[in-house]
Amino acid sequence: MKNIAIIGAGMTGLSLAYNLQNTNITIFDKSWRAGGRASTRKHDDLIFDHGAHYLSQKHKVKQLNDVLNKLNLLKEKEIIFYADFKKNEKIKKKIFVGKNGINSIPKGIFENIKINSHFNTKVLKIFKNKKNNYDLYTENEVFKDYDIVLVCIPFFQAKELTTDYIKFSNNHIPEYDPIYTLMLSFKEKTHLKIDGGLNLHDDISFFMKQNFKFPKLKSESWVLNMSSEYTKKNLDISNVELENYAFSIFKKILKVDNKPFFIKTHRWLYAQTKTTYNSLSKKNWINSKDNKIFLTGDWVLGKSLSDAWNAGLQLSHYLKILDI
Ligand SMILES: Cc1cc2nc3c(=O)[nH]c(=O)nc-3n(C[C@H](O)[C@H](O)[C@H](O)COP(=O)(O)OP(=O)(O)OC[C@H]3O[C@@H](n4cnc5c(N)ncnc54)[C@H](O)[C@@H]3O)c2cc1C
Repeated sequence: MKNIAIIGAGMTGLSLAYNLQNTNITIFDKSWRAGGRASTRKHDDLIFDHGAHYLSQKHKVKQLNDVLNKLNLLKEKEIIFYADFKKNEKIKKKIFVGKNGINSIPKGIFENIKINSHFNTKVLKIFKNKKNNYDLYTENEVFKDYDIVLVCIPFFQAKELTTDYIKFSNNHIPEYDPIYTLMLSFKEKTHLKIDGGLNLHDDISFFMKQNFKFPKLKSESWVLNMSSEYTKKNLDISNVELENYAFSIFKKILKVDNKPFFIKTHRWLYAQTKTTYNSLSKKNWINSKDNKIFLTGDWVLGKSLSDAWNAGLQLSHYLKILDI
């Protein structure tokens, strides 16, 4: 049986692991847990989905829906949402969230797949050995002799890791939007009767209350996404300056008098795909000449969790044809 390494345990890597379950797979992730940008952050009693927020009904990947239903990982919520805050368009919207935060979705999938895993393990180099298989170098260890290496990380990081074995076309470079997210909590409830919305301000593209996701959360908590235009223009801004600025907008526009007792920033440099690899190349993955290293990720097909899942699924079909 072939030895397969998956680098990256986000939704793309998990999709491949799920779909190739009967092979000899080892998954590596630099983080301490699976999920990547489907991330739920805890601070004492506080909890925030500060990467991906939810799955919406328009994310239609049948297999992903089947898996999530089978594993009972979703809860459906009806929320009051500004489809466009500036235009005052308020709607009731049905969304799907993780039972215990968005990260509980990849966590549940990972726990269901019985494969070898190495967390806190960043792959620093991929090296072709004398047997024409690949060895993976990490800070402390070398993992040897993989027949197939599936690299499921953001494009630019994947390119850097595989540049010795893959010739990249300058015409097929996907684009990302960076997004800074802010997490904030109030001891006292605010007067706000909405759960979130889009387009709060030119510089804040999205805001979402966390309490409907986490009913035990005592403090009223919000996540704000700065717009990608603002983020791009302010890559060097300090956290304090960013937090003061973002809160001043939130306060002014939503007329909030309360002061947050907690405010924190997370900087996503590769947050969401802007131009997909598929739209540029019409291809669904990138492979090395020897057909042993494959690159994929949400960046191939789109900007959502279901695009990431679908990218892994597409590649798994091809790998099955190769009879790995
Ligand atoms: C702020 C924000 C809001 C979003 N909102 C939504 C939303 O509401 N709905 C939605 O569907 N999607 C949303 N998304 C997009 C969604 O999160 C991504 O499309 C999806 O999570 C990408 O999955 P992936 O597996 O392709 O990549 P990732 O999740 O980035 O996974 C890559 C993994 O690789 C690991 N890794 C990287 N380099 C290495 C290395 N050298 N060695 C080992 N491991 C490595 C990382 O630790 C990570 O776990 C949002 C994203 C962000 C950032």
